[in-house]
Amino acid sequence: MSLESFLKRSQVAAKPAKSAAASGLSAPPLAQVMLLSAPAWDWRRTPTVTLMSVLLHLIALGLCGLIVLENPQLMEEIFTTLTEHEEIGDPIIERSMEVPQEVNDAPQENIFSRAATSNLEFESTGPVALNVSDGIPQVEKGASELPGPRGIQLGNETSGRMSADAKRAMLEKFGGNSASEAAVAAGLKWLVDHQMSNGSWSFEHSKHPGCRGQCSQNGFLKSCPHGATGLALLAFLGAGHTHQAGDYQKEVRRGLDFLLKTGKRSSDGSDSLDLRGFVVRNEGMYVQGLCTIALCECAAMTDDPRIRTAAQGAIEFIVKAQNPVDGGWRYFPRAPGDTSVVGWQVMALKSGYNAKLSFSNKVFKGAETFLDRAQTNRGSQYIYMPGNARRSPDPTETMTAVGLLCRMYLGWDRTNPRLASGVEYLDQVKPQPDNMYFNYYATQVMHHWGGDEWTRWNEVMRDQLIRTQHSQRDGHPAGSWDLADPHGDAGGRHYMTCLSLMTLEVYYRHLPLYNRNTLKVEF
Ligand SMILES: [Zn+2]
Repeated sequence: MSLESFLKRSQVAAKPAKSAAASGLSAPPLAQVMLLSAPAWDWRRTPTVTLMSVLLHLIALGLCGLIVLENPQLMEEIFTTLTEHEEIGDPIIERSMEVPQEVNDAPQENIFSRAATSNLEFESTGPVALNVSDGIPQVEKGASELPGPRGIQLGNETSGRMSADAKRAMLEKFGGNSASEAAVAAGLKWLVDHQMSNGSWSFEHSKHPGCRGQCSQNGFLKSCPHGATGLALLAFLGAGHTHQAGDYQKEVRRGLDFLLKTGKRSSDGSDSLDLRGFVVRNEGMYVQGLCTIALCECAAMTDDPRIRTAAQGAIEFIVKAQNPVDGGWRYFPRAPGDTSVVGWQVMALKSGYNAKLSFSNKVFKGAETFLDRAQTNRGSQYIYMPGNARRSPDPTETMTAVGLLCRMYLGWDRTNPRLASGVEYLDQVKPQPDNMYFNYYATQVMHHWGGDEWTRWNEVMRDQLIRTQHSQRDGHPAGSWDLADPHGDAGGRHYMTCLSLMTLEVYYRHLPLYNRNTLKVEF
């Protein structure tokens, strides 16, 4: 159709509307009003004006793009503003956009090129007093092996889950029971039934051909297989199942293969391994942390050189992603930290330390620097984001649980009054019916702490999880948990199920940090 004939048709189409408006029968649509009230259109001027307008818009867009791409922090600010929640809290993973479906196997761009890790500005002198679950340096000679026919190596925090005998003894010692173990078995079965054909797991679990929507509550992170796989592997590893031992060797191997196949090697010559997957918004460093813990635990449990190499690379990525000023981590590498993301990285680093991977202790000093800024009440409570009073003016129970667990691993002793005060606070808060993220971290704090506080906590937490798991009577979703977490929409049922499983595995998943000399396990 020519421009002139189009204009003629437009004028014909506009006439009845003009008549209707003049008769006062009805108000004309806005578009027609604009057309009728516009001045006469001189089409001969249009090509020049249109061309100029397009050019000016393109230049403006290009300038904006350059400014944003050159400044990751500005990009983060924009995204943060776009995704800001009404309730300021401790988001686990904020809302994601659609992401590409293909895995990009190409080496990652050198995201660290603008600042080398040697520029870390926090204090780095002196040794770091780590409590890495019955930590390697602190174990006294002769106290490193528990009594019993096979014994448990206190020097390895994952040793409690490595045999049926050890698991049984630890369960009995720390308050698990047959019902909690049956819940773990049922939950792992649900995970097996929702593993994808490429070995990964998905927060959109209902897309699994065996599920076809029979389970509700997909996470809104539709394309985050790395995060979902890291969580699932942690649940299997937590119960002692690896690709070399246990009842789920095939499933664990396929999950590990997925991570190793799709992880991106750095192009900067450092061999760091980027496991963040399709990063489109704020989930990246959460995913890196989860996958790194899984690889490090597996490396400690199996000593498989392939896994060890990958774990070392994943740790290197985390070390290099640390903010050089505040010592924390956030959504993007080297961004100023928040307590929630810091928690996962510290857990990954201590798992790497436990697996005897090599990296500088300086990274722990940085984490300590960050926690010093995030603490309130002399270190017994923690806020979400120090240095951003608008977003996080007050401590929260969840950030307090995360902060205290980090403090325990970073060397705070059981005699530390600030730790005692924090544990007393968690004891008063009690296990929450609707905050699994808090429950997951707080359970670990209380388990390490021990004593009456742990007994009180465990009886409520354990039975709450057993009670709320879907049973066989519920059919297909049996073994999973309905989401009960204010920040769990991103991961949905899969996330909730994995955190619940790891919480029920607490008895043997990590040996308690304190009371090493009094730990007696008979079996
Ligand atoms: Zn299902």
